[in-house]
Amino acid sequence: MKPILADLHNHSNFCDGRDTPEQMAEAAFKMGFTDLGFSGHSHAEFDLPCSVRDVSGYLAAVHSLQEEYAGRMNIYCGVEQDFCAPVDDRSAYDYLIGAVHYFHSRADDIYYPVDSSAEELAACISEMFAGQPYQMIRRFYENSTENVLKYRPDLVGHFDLIVKNNADGRFFDEDDKRYRYSAIEALEACLELAPVFELNMGGIYRRYRETPYPATFLLKELLHRGGRIALSADAHATEALAFRFTDAKELLRDIGFKSIWVWHNGAFVEQGLN
Ligand SMILES: [Zn+2]
Ligand SMILES: [Zn+2]
Repeated sequence: MKPILADLHNHSNFCDGRDTPEQMAEAAFKMGFTDLGFSGHSHAEFDLPCSVRDVSGYLAAVHSLQEEYAGRMNIYCGVEQDFCAPVDDRSAYDYLIGAVHYFHSRADDIYYPVDSSAEELAACISEMFAGQPYQMIRRFYENSTENVLKYRPDLVGHFDLIVKNNADGRFFDEDDKRYRYSAIEALEACLELAPVFELNMGGIYRRYRETPYPATFLLKELLHRGGRIALSADAHATEALAFRFTDAKELLRDIGFKSIWVWHNGAFVEQGLN
């Protein structure tokens, strides 16, 4: 039997990915994937360039690949749902990744991206949070908590994405107790529902960060509180599939994890980290 190689977090050209679902599936199959999930960004009118524009086309394309690869590789049709853009029909998807990519300023109906450019994050801090970065941090983690409590995602996506443009500490200090308190408090609240958190390698692939999401101090909290981790490449192109999964496992082993969780035959199963 082939060893399980699985990843639920992959994009295609139906949203902001480069390659077609067919190209992604073909490359994954060649790499020995047993379980490949597509997680197109949930359709959002405020995010037309990056979210899935043609939802029915996306579902049809992934379902057709599911049939084509039946018996050789499991393919799933999932969604990476943004907190601000819940899907109309969750039952259309095999699983849901919960993510927070935007702040919505209700006062002026503006959506500020968390993970776009440093300039946009700077605008968010100054315009929406009166120049107070730790107020923004608090809101981000409050939204992250509400996202998990409200939507019960199968996988919690890039839990600390807010650090993406902060690699040099230019907006806030990730060691500051205000930052850590907000993050840990949210993590604790989410853990009560025992979701699986992803170790997301996407920020490293795209050279924004040198470490995965979430940060090591959060992974340690997860370990101590019995949290479960799955590996995600957040691949937007074929060459990013299963990006640095070997390094990711080594990092988790170093922190003290004994196992990860892999999506196999439609559910998470435990896999030893030996
Ligand atoms: Zn995302
Ligand atoms: Zn993603």
